[in-house]
Amino acid sequence: MQINFTGLRALVTGAGKGIGRDTVKALQDSGANVVAVSRTKEDLVSLSKERPGIETVCVDLENWEATEHALGNIGPVDLLVNNAAILLIEPFLEVSKEAFDRTIHANLRSVIHLSQIVARGLIARGVPGSIVNVSSIVSRAAIQGLTCYSSTKGAMDMLTKVMALELGPHQIRVNTVNPTVVLTPMGKKVSDNPEFVKAMKKRTPLGKFAEVEDVVHSILFLLSDKSAMINGSGIMVDGGYLAS
Ligand code: NAP
Repeated sequence: MQINFTGLRALVTGAGKGIGRDTVKALQDSGANVVAVSRTKEDLVSLSKERPGIETVCVDLENWEATEHALGNIGPVDLLVNNAAILLIEPFLEVSKEAFDRTIHANLRSVIHLSQIVARGLIARGVPGSIVNVSSIVSRAAIQGLTCYSSTKGAMDMLTKVMALELGPHQIRVNTVNPTVVLTPMGKKVSDNPEFVKAMKKRTPLGKFAEVEDVVHSILFLLSDKSAMINGSGIMVDGGYLAS
């Protein structure tokens, strides 16, 4: 299946590491002009060196005002990947106000803000667009210690449906990808417990975690015209975890 984004501009958040970084590269390989947004300057510098031509924006998406300042006038964007997120592990009884606020701001509020900026631009230009929100299997299945993170991913799945409903008439499609564990810097935070790894793989019919490229392929499919009739939906990149 050939996917070609020539002539389109894409914006990817959380582009410094992990899934976001490889999504940027795959989009560029498919012909898109890419804006890579992340928080750690060094990651963006190394990405620019590795991939000349990529535009970079360094901003902390937890901060609404800083995001507006950095991205409010970003110009035309046709494809948006809301990928940035943080994962703070705390048992439910110890969840702090700070952890909850930070997680909501980074994982959910920023998605609304950035999607507003991009969707308003698409509507003003009268062109179609596609938004992919990177969710997780924990939007649908509980895992210990992930109160804040899972709550934002559950909300993200429903946010995606509301966005699909309201933006669909403007030919802007909105979908999620919901991966199982991927061994990125974030994935390694939860997978350093051998018992957890064993239990996760045991429940997964394919018996393994996802690779970064498994997630990137699904993101590109949902961004592309190959998924032209898919809206308000989600792809479970989970080896069947949620089927069991
Ligand atoms: P990662 O390795 O931790 O990378 C996340 C990237 O997002 C980093 O570059 C990080 O920058 C950036 N970021 C985080 N908060 C930010 C903020 N406030 N402002 C700007 N940039 C920010 O994570 P990943 O595993 O690639 O995860 C990508 C997405 O997949 C996330 O939405 C995650 O929830 C989802 N997901 C991951 C897994 C998994 O097992 N890895 C499973 C299911 C879903 P800094 O490093 O500079 O903070």
